[in-house]
Amino acid sequence: MAKVLCVLYDDPVDGYPKTYARDDLPRIDHYPGGQTTPTPQGIDFTPGQLLGSVSGELGLRTFLESRGHSLVVTSDKDRDGSVFDQELVDADVVISQPFWPAYLTAERIAKAENLKLAITAGIGSDHVDLDAAIAKGVTVAEVTYCNSISVAEHVVMMTLSLVRNYLPSHQWVLDGGWNIADCVARSYDLEGMQVGTVAAGRIGLAVLRRLAPFDVGLHYTDRHRLPEAVEQELGLTWHAGAAEMVPHCDVVTINAPLHPETEGLFGDELLATMKRGAYLINTARAKIADRDAIDRALRSGQLAGYAGDVWYPQPAPADHPWRTMPHHGMTPHISGSSLSAQARYAAGTREILESWFAGTPLRDEYLIVDKGALAGVGAHSYSVKNT
Ligand code: NDP
Repeated sequence: MAKVLCVLYDDPVDGYPKTYARDDLPRIDHYPGGQTTPTPQGIDFTPGQLLGSVSGELGLRTFLESRGHSLVVTSDKDRDGSVFDQELVDADVVISQPFWPAYLTAERIAKAENLKLAITAGIGSDHVDLDAAIAKGVTVAEVTYCNSISVAEHVVMMTLSLVRNYLPSHQWVLDGGWNIADCVARSYDLEGMQVGTVAAGRIGLAVLRRLAPFDVGLHYTDRHRLPEAVEQELGLTWHAGAAEMVPHCDVVTINAPLHPETEGLFGDELLATMKRGAYLINTARAKIADRDAIDRALRSGQLAGYAGDVWYPQPAPADHPWRTMPHHGMTPHISGSSLSAQARYAAGTREILESWFAGTPLRDEYLIVDKGALAGVGAHSYSVKNT
């Protein structure tokens, strides 16, 4: 019987919800491109409820305990002697989330003698040392596509909110003001602007599709070109790299994985080549941008705004400069953890566990590392010597 260790973010400060804003979720069976949403044999939770925090337990307890497995759920992951560190030593399966990552470093993987499976209840397994997982024969899987559209919607929201100066204008209302000139002195229309994405995979392409009706010029760079029909349909301009693309853009959105090629990409040098007053939205991974260079670019006016939901480390310390830099629209790491996304990643985690316990193959699109090598979607998206 397996011990499953699940690291989730804390419950709301005022307690686990008893009621919800809405009664149901739209039913979605397929993602764009045809992949089906998770297909577990059953679920023991109500879609639309808070599953990603400690008391939500990803809806897994009944499923696991009724089959004789044990489940430990904690949010305590970073301090010396954390519950995560204590429980890891004999855990067979670790479940973590990019929003509240339990960093599975090489050191921790070495200490986790029984560890066989690391599941990301979400997308993005860069909190796992993939080299160490490969060396130890640990399988790494994630719930591919579960929250890609959720993130794309967040990117669109942040783009509009920065360009139109939404958050400071809302603040004037909260403060009792009616300061129209203060609100609009930094407010523009998106229409006619040039918008570029670094990477046009699931999220990047969904952002392009969602922004096309705004009558903007659309640009992208990616290691692989999109089909010609898609380029034509959306009127896309492809660029060989980020350096070639960003000087043309008023808005840049980052939708590439974190790996050695992208780490620190948006530093002083690249930022200096952007149009003065460009906006940068990063919901991919914080380390793709240089923390202090972003702060400097906002203060100098080189960037007119920066928004995103990814930080390093997570949770971000209280004195993280991105909390206080000017003209930012940061949120905590929430874009991929809407209640809608939670229902999918909880179901996907259950599907992965069902297959694992039954000894049947995991869906190829969920695999990152398997049998001592990058596998499935991981073989395409990740490189060894991950950051
Ligand atoms: P996909 O794998 O679908 O797409 C990533 C794309 O990036 C691929 O087309 C890939 O090209 C391309 N790429 C890789 N390296 C580069 C590079 N150096 N320059 C340009 N393009 C590059 O991933 P998703 O769209 O699903 O997700 C993108 C990232 O967003 C994830 O890696 C993750 O870090 C982040 N994410 C954030 C979430 C959040 O909650 N904020 C939730 C989900 C994901 P190729 O095909 O050649 O590999």
